[in-house]
Amino acid sequence: MAIMVCGGAGYIGAHTVFELIGRGEEVVIVDNLQTGHRGALNPAAKFYEGDIRNADILEKIFSENKIEAVIHFAANSLVGESVQNPLKYFNNNVGGMQILLEAMTKFGVDKIVFSSTAAVYGEPEKIPIVETDKTLPTNPYGESKLIMERMIRWVKNLRFVSLRYFNAAGAIESGSIGEDHKCETHLIPLILQVPLGKRDHITIFGADYPTHDGTCLRDYIHVVDLADAHILALNYLRNGGDSEIFNLGNGRGFSVKEIISAAEKVTGQKIKTEIGERRAGDPAKLIASSDKAKKILHWTPRFSEVEKIIATAWNWHKNNPDGYKE
Ligand code: UDP
Repeated sequence: MAIMVCGGAGYIGAHTVFELIGRGEEVVIVDNLQTGHRGALNPAAKFYEGDIRNADILEKIFSENKIEAVIHFAANSLVGESVQNPLKYFNNNVGGMQILLEAMTKFGVDKIVFSSTAAVYGEPEKIPIVETDKTLPTNPYGESKLIMERMIRWVKNLRFVSLRYFNAAGAIESGSIGEDHKCETHLIPLILQVPLGKRDHITIFGADYPTHDGTCLRDYIHVVDLADAHILALNYLRNGGDSEIFNLGNGRGFSVKEIISAAEKVTGQKIKTEIGERRAGDPAKLIASSDKAKKILHWTPRFSEVEKIIATAWNWHKNNPDGYKE
């Protein structure tokens, strides 16, 4: 039986496929390559190019393969873009989920691991954030993921694990795959563009937040640790586990300034900064409690040092300054 990975050519999807293949799993990828990359596809996986909103392609995949479970990454994930174009997010993310769940129901596929986000919480009332905290998204991206989580709960004969990621970062240590967004908005890859000579400076979005150095605190979690959590979640469902939601983070907040200093240490280069305006919708602090994932899934993140996380990102970007070749 195979695991179907929707969005397996994307950043976290490709890392999860790599880990699945490494554990001897059979993998079928479906990806429309809208934000994913052909170069990120694992040659050991079977690939279908297509959109999960297309019921015909799902029908074809479920007919041609024996699918045991689905791991679902296929979604748009940019907060700023979602504010500009909310309906794109409801169409692709929510609409895609509906078609996928219909196909899974039709073919009797009863397990799904879902890629969710800390953005479902919105502005936290307390830190660290636990899974039972209030969910009140402050942008359409977070809202779309929350709706998707809620949709899954109502589907009959389906068990799910929803994984709410905090700030995914880094790359596989070999550097064979990594982060490559057509329009990069994330802090670590943008910082690394300075030592790569692709950017003159990094703008710090606000230095007047109520934190120790005035810049926002985020919980950075290594992409391979995220990938591992998906496999643990899959095995948890295989072993009969009930549907659950888990936060995935390191439980420590690093400020934007601390991340820049860590990147200077890793790259050995001074990184020029400028203080800019706050970015709309940015909470001052987002830090996870991942105690539940540690307790129930027995998840242990291996990359808890932020410099180690940045070093793996640097290894990828240095060797692939323009990202994937295709
Ligand atoms: N950030 C920044 N400058 C940039 C990009 C991001 O100061 O050029 C800040 C951003 O305001 C946030 C943190 O870095 O406080 C992490 O942002 P990112 O977009 O990487 O992730 P998010 O927390 O939005 O998921």
